[in-house]
Amino acid sequence: MYGDIFFEISGICNAKCPWCVTKSPFVESKHPSDKVTPKKARFIPVETFERAINRLIDIGIIGATTCIHLYNWGEPLIHPQFEEILTVLHEKELAFAISTNASKSVKVAHHLLAHLKQFTISMPGFSQAAYDRIHGFQFDKIQRNIDVLLETFKSADMIRITYHIYQFNLGEIKAAKQFCLEKGVEFSPYAAFPVDYNLSLAYLNDALSYETLKKLSKDLLLYYIDDTVTAAPTDYICPQHNHYLTIDEYCNLLTCCVVTKEHPDYYAMGSLFNLSYDEIRKQKVSQAICKECLQSGLAYWVHNPLILEC
Ligand code: SF4
Ligand code: SF4
Repeated sequence: MYGDIFFEISGICNAKCPWCVTKSPFVESKHPSDKVTPKKARFIPVETFERAINRLIDIGIIGATTCIHLYNWGEPLIHPQFEEILTVLHEKELAFAISTNASKSVKVAHHLLAHLKQFTISMPGFSQAAYDRIHGFQFDKIQRNIDVLLETFKSADMIRITYHIYQFNLGEIKAAKQFCLEKGVEFSPYAAFPVDYNLSLAYLNDALSYETLKKLSKDLLLYYIDDTVTAAPTDYICPQHNHYLTIDEYCNLLTCCVVTKEHPDYYAMGSLFNLSYDEIRKQKVSQAICKECLQSGLAYWVHNPLILEC
């Protein structure tokens, strides 16, 4: 049984974050001709989600100690049948977690949230200028939405705001922390990083174009990365190998949570409906891309982002 499943109920995110796997215009492949044509991002149909959950229970992937995170890099609250998705989990008494960019305020029947473990709101700064650079939303509307969302999801065991630190929002950390204090939620700041396997690996391999590196160096904190990668234990085990699984909105088991849909290895594992528990375990630790990733220190970096004491 896995402790955590990241299940992309919405393959779509309405934010415009340039360093996200869903939006990055900077994908640089060594072999562009190897790219696959991905299926169009979509919202998972409720009946497909229910069938997938039943399958995961039947083969022993999920159970009473698993938390189903209703996201990978999509925005779950824009799923048009969000309450129906929650109903599927509620009927099976499964624990779940939500992470949102707070672009949409929703109200949900209270009883559906009985097993909500975590509610997370991500913020790319604390000003309209920061939102203009990353999420692309109206900051005043986001703040109003947060009030509604904190009321809706107040029964969660843990509520936090993850503050993604960029160079340009360092001066806004204090205001964001104060905001969290006033709302009574946990403040969780960490350095934003490119959530894109190709891009991050190209950075580590000094293979980025000058233009991309220039853009990256204007947005992200980069000073700590060499030290982090150097500190990676030689026997480091990627948590995606033994602790959690990521599933997309077509029920594909992902080789890695930060691989783009265009990457030739994106579909390497295949559908959860075709694999047994043992096959999933075996395939998860034997993916070709993992070897280079572990050797480069990338796996250690993406699972150990810089956390600043604020
Ligand atoms: S980083 Fe998060 S909020 Fe931004 S585009 Fe990606 S999934 Fe959406
Ligand atoms: S080792 Fe790297 S490529 Fe493999 S699952 Fe972990 S982060 Fe992804």
